[in-house]
Amino acid sequence: MTSSRRKLVAGNWKMNGTFAANGELVAALLAQLPRDGASVLVCPPAPYLQQVAGLLTGSRIALGAQNVSEFDSGAYTGEWSAPMLREIGCSHAIVGHSERRTLFGETSERVAAKTEAALKAGLIPVVCVGETWPERSAGATEAVVAGQLGPLMGRVNMAGIVIAYEPVWAIGTGKTATPAEAQAVHDFIRRKVGAVDAAAAAGLTILYGGSVNAGNAAALFSCPDIDGALVGGASLKAQDFAAIVRAAAT
Ligand code: PEP
Repeated sequence: MTSSRRKLVAGNWKMNGTFAANGELVAALLAQLPRDGASVLVCPPAPYLQQVAGLLTGSRIALGAQNVSEFDSGAYTGEWSAPMLREIGCSHAIVGHSERRTLFGETSERVAAKTEAALKAGLIPVVCVGETWPERSAGATEAVVAGQLGPLMGRVNMAGIVIAYEPVWAIGTGKTATPAEAQAVHDFIRRKVGAVDAAAAAGLTILYGGSVNAGNAAALFSCPDIDGALVGGASLKAQDFAAIVRAAAT
């Protein structure tokens, strides 16, 4: 079964890069990415957003941040706001990545507030959800994901966001969810959103994230509710990232 939703492949560079390395990576991406097909997004560390915005000028690659404040301005040392990200050229912001939730204590309520702030400024939030291995082992995957989605529903326009299902146990571990495991959770997310907004659910882009690489991407993308990928490690290698983008176009 195919859907009319255009696929999106997003690269989360995490806390990696230098001016020189970013320049090389973007040049290689511009040379190797297919001219059309899936939408492409890269999310460099905040200090490099302006550099990468310049490098991407005139290209079809969109720019996103890895985090965004829930506040627009004020006494929030070390934070950056959605209006600032818009001004610097971002169209997207990752929100609630598991590393933010685990290492920096972001709750689902705060993630919802950040999502709301991003939408208000005209950014497309890429909201991450996903269970840990103990939660999956306990059969709690759906309950965990529903709990993470809960504060968003009724608060934000679900038609304006992208959701990334990223099982925590698959992020950076080399262990990928099987296409069937991922599809089951994507279907659950779409049904959950559909219960409050059927039109938003039908159009909702739901990415899979967790050790996606050039070898496993095509099988994941063949699932009816998997609309692309959020890619960490492999997004730092132009050849691998370009292969994932090509896999999304078929
Ligand atoms: C991520 O950081 O969102 C991610 C999915 O990382 P990796 O592809 O390295 O597992």
